[in-house]
Amino acid sequence: MKILVINCGSSSVKYQLIDMSNEEVLAHGLVERIGIQGSILTQKVEGRDKYIIETPMENHKFAIKLVLDALVDEKNGVIKSMDEINAVGHRVVHGGEKYSQSVIIDENVMKELEACVKLAPLHNPPNIVGINACKALMPNVPMVAVFDTAFHQTMPEKAYMYAIPYEMYEKHGVRKYGFHGTSHRYVSSEVAKTMGKDLKDLKIITCHLGNGGSLAAIKNGECIDTSMGFTPLDGVVMGTRSGSIDPAVVLYMATDLGYSVDEINSILNKKSGVLGLSGISSDFRDLQDGLEKGNERATLALEVFRYSVKKQIGAYIAAMNGVDVIVFTAGLGENSVPNRKAILNGLEYLGIELDEERNDTYGVTKKISKDSSKVDVYVVPTNEELVIARDTLGLIK
Ligand code: ADP
Repeated sequence: MKILVINCGSSSVKYQLIDMSNEEVLAHGLVERIGIQGSILTQKVEGRDKYIIETPMENHKFAIKLVLDALVDEKNGVIKSMDEINAVGHRVVHGGEKYSQSVIIDENVMKELEACVKLAPLHNPPNIVGINACKALMPNVPMVAVFDTAFHQTMPEKAYMYAIPYEMYEKHGVRKYGFHGTSHRYVSSEVAKTMGKDLKDLKIITCHLGNGGSLAAIKNGECIDTSMGFTPLDGVVMGTRSGSIDPAVVLYMATDLGYSVDEINSILNKKSGVLGLSGISSDFRDLQDGLEKGNERATLALEVFRYSVKKQIGAYIAAMNGVDVIVFTAGLGENSVPNRKAILNGLEYLGIELDEERNDTYGVTKKISKDSSKVDVYVVPTNEELVIARDTLGLIK
C-alpha cells in the first residue's frame, strides 16, 4: 500500500510517497515558485542524486502532474505506474468546528472546506486547489483530508472562547482554533510510547517551535489548550509573527499611525517576531550567532522569544495542575541546544531540571532532563507526513 502525502501552499507543493508496509519514505520532494518565474521541482530519493526539473509551471495542477511524472520517471522515479498510488492524504490547514478528525474527501467535504475559506483565507484555498488538481489527475484514487486544527477540537469552551460579544462566535466563528495539531498529536503519542506510559495517564506540554511556533497542553490524550488562536498569529513569539500582543496596538496602528489593513497584516505576520525585534533575521540560528557576538538586538529578540515560551509553559502547568513531560519539536525545538536551555532555565521551582549533557542533542528522540527531575523533558522529532499517511491508510481500509 503506497500513499502520497500532499501539502499545498500558495506557490508550493511538498510531497512524500510512503510505503505503508514499513512506513518507508520512497521519495519526497518540493515544488516551488508555482505560477511565478523560476518554477522548480526537487525530488529526493535515499541514496540517489537529487532529481531537479526546471520548467514553467502555470498552476498547481501542472505542478502535481510533474510530481506524478517524477515519481514514475524511468530513471529517477520510484514506482512503475501511477496505479501504485493507493490513496492521497492532503494536509488541510483549517477544518473549522466541523472536523475533529481526518476525513475521506467527498463532495460534501469539499463544500465544508470552501466554507472554511473565510477562516483561513491564505491557507485553505491552495489546499483546495491541490485536492482538485489531484482529483482531476487521479479520479479513482481515494483522498483524505487531515486538518491542522482537528486535534485541538477537544478544548473546553473556557479555553477557546474569547471574551468579546458572543455573536462574534455564533455568527462569525471567531474563537480559538489552534494549529500544528497534527504535530502536537504525533509527538505527544510518541513521547508516551517512548516513556512506556499510556497517553491517557499523562499531562504533556508539547512545544512545536519552528518558523511558526505553538504550545499545547495535553491532558489524558486530549488537547485542553493551545497557544495559537483564531489564526496562527497568536501565542508565542515566532520567526516573523508577533504572537500575542495587546489588540489595541492594531487599532493604534490603523488610526493614529495611518497604516492600512494590508500593511498591518504584513507587519504582524511577516515583519514582526524575532525578525522585527532583531532587524537581522527570522532564523533563530542567525540570532544565536548574533547573541554570541554580542549583538544587542539579536539578544533582545531571543530573550523576548524565550520568555514568551517559558510563560506559556507555566500557564499550561497551571491549566493542568501539573505536568509529567515537556516535549520539544520542530526545527528549533529539535535542534537548538541553547534555546531549550534558556527556555527551561529558572523552572526548577516547578520541578524541571535539564541535564546539560543530554541536552546536547539534535533531531532524535531523547530524554534531556535529569533523572532527578520531577518533570521529564524530551526532544521528539515531528513527522506530520507520517500522521497524514497513517490517517489516510486508516480511513481507506
Ligand atoms: P516551519 O515552521 O517552516 O515548518 P521548521 O520546523 O522547519 O519550520 O523550523 C525552521 C526553523 O527552525 C528555522 O527558521 C530555524 O530558525 C530553526 N532552526 C533549525 N535548526 C536550528 C538550530 N540548530 N538552532 C536554532 N534554530 C534552528
